[in-house]
Amino acid sequence: MKQNTIPDSIQVAAGEDYTEIRESIRSICANFPGKYWRDLEEKEAYPTEFVKTLTEAGYLAALIPEQYGGSGMQLRAAAAILEEIHANGCNAGACHAQMYIMGTLLRHGSEVQKSLYLPQIASGALRLQAFGVTEPTTGTDTTKLKTKAVRVGDHYIVNGQKVWTSRALHSDLMLLLARTTPLEEVKKKSEGLSVFLIDIRECLGKGLEIKPLKAMINHNATEVFFSDVKIPASSLIGEEGKGLKYILDGMNAERILVSAEAIGDARWFIKKTVEYANERIVFDRPIGKNQGIAFPIARAYAETEAADLVLRRAAALFAANLPCADDANMGKLLASEASWRAAEACIQTHGGFGFAREYDVERKWRETRLFQIAPISTNLVLSYIAEHILELPRTY
Ligand SMILES: Cc1cc2nc3c(=O)[nH]c(=O)nc-3n(C[C@H](O)[C@H](O)[C@H](O)COP(=O)(O)OP(=O)(O)OC[C@H]3O[C@@H](n4cnc5c(N)ncnc54)[C@H](O)[C@@H]3O)c2cc1C
Repeated sequence: MKQNTIPDSIQVAAGEDYTEIRESIRSICANFPGKYWRDLEEKEAYPTEFVKTLTEAGYLAALIPEQYGGSGMQLRAAAAILEEIHANGCNAGACHAQMYIMGTLLRHGSEVQKSLYLPQIASGALRLQAFGVTEPTTGTDTTKLKTKAVRVGDHYIVNGQKVWTSRALHSDLMLLLARTTPLEEVKKKSEGLSVFLIDIRECLGKGLEIKPLKAMINHNATEVFFSDVKIPASSLIGEEGKGLKYILDGMNAERILVSAEAIGDARWFIKKTVEYANERIVFDRPIGKNQGIAFPIARAYAETEAADLVLRRAAALFAANLPCADDANMGKLLASEASWRAAEACIQTHGGFGFAREYDVERKWRETRLFQIAPISTNLVLSYIAEHILELPRTY
C-alpha cells in the first residue's frame, strides 16, 4: 500500500475562505432565486442571464492568467466560487466547464492558440463550454472511443458521435477527444488519441449536427454527430496522439471544482433542512426534536466537513504543483456522497413538501444526484483508490 507522502508544508485551513469573493457571489445569486431556475427548467432553457452576469463579473475567467485577460486565481478560489453558487441555490453546471476545459488549452495549446482564444474566452466574446469525450457505445472505456480524426493535407476529417456533451448548443468552441491512430496500430491503448479545439460555429451545418438530449435535470445535454466534418489542422492541441494524457492532466482540477459544487449543494440542503426542522411543528413540537430527523442532518454535516477538508488538501497540493490525484479522487467520492446524504435528509425532513416544486428541494435533489455519475462515476473512483492507493490488482 502506498505511503502517505503529503509534505508538512501543505496546510489546510477550515472555515470560510475567500470571504470577499463569496460575498460577491452571494449577492449575485440573490438575483437568481429558485423561481428563475424553476422557470428555466420548465422551458428547458439555458441560464443566459446568470452566465452573462458571472462572465461580466470576471468569475468564469478566474483561472485564466492575467496576461490573457483573466484574473489568474488559484484553483481553490475557483472552487470557492462554484461552491458558493451551489450553496446559494443556483447551479454552475451551465458554465463550470469553461474553468477546467480552458486548462487543457492553457497547459498544452500553442502560444498562437492561447493568444487567439484565451482573451476572448476571458472577456466572454467566445464561450468554451463543450467537452466531447463520452460516446454512446464505449462509455468510461475512453481508449476505445470511436470518433476518428483523419489528417488530410492541412485539415482533419472528423467522423463519429458523442453523447452527453453538455452545453454544446450554448458554446462557440468544443474541446474534442478523437482517435487519430487506430487502436490496432498503437503500442499502448492510451496512445493515438488527440485533442482538438473545434469552432462549432464554423462546422454547424457542414457535417456537424447537435441534438438536445432530454434528461432528468436541466443540464443542456446534447448528442453530437460528426459526418465528414473538415477542421483545420491548426485545431489540434499539443502533439497528435497525446490527447488522453492532456485530458487526464486536467481531470484533477475538474474533480476538485465539480466536488466543490457538491459541497455547496450539501451546505444548501443542510441549511434548508435545519430551518425547516426548527419551524415545522408536528405533534406540538418542532420535528427537529426527533432524533430520526436530527441525526441524518448531523451525519450529513459531518460528512460534508470531512469531504471539504480532503478537497482543500487536494487544492493545496495542486497549488504547490504536487501530485493531488489521490485527494482529488477521494474528495470527489466523499463530496458526492455527502451532498447526496444531505439531499436525502432534506427531502425526508420536508415530508410531502419535499415534492413541491416551489421548495426547490426536489430540483436540487435531482441535480445533486449527478455527482455520483459525472464527470466520473463512483465505481471508477473506487477503482482508482483500490489500484493506485491501496495497490490492489487493477479491476478492469
Ligand atoms: C447530465 C450529464 C452531463 C454530462 N456531461 C458530459 C460532458 O459534457 N462531456 C462528456 O464527455 N461527458 C459528459 N457526461 C458523461 C459522463 O461523464 C458519463 O455518463 C460518466 O462518466 C459515466 O459514463 P457512462 O455513462 O458511459 O457509463 P458506463 O461507462 O457505461 O458505466 C455504467 C455503470 O457501470 C459502472 N462501471 C463501468 N465499468 C466498471 C468497472 N470496470 N468496474 C465497476 N463499475 C463499472 C460505472 O461506474 C457506471 O455506474 C455527462 C453525463 C450526464 C448524465
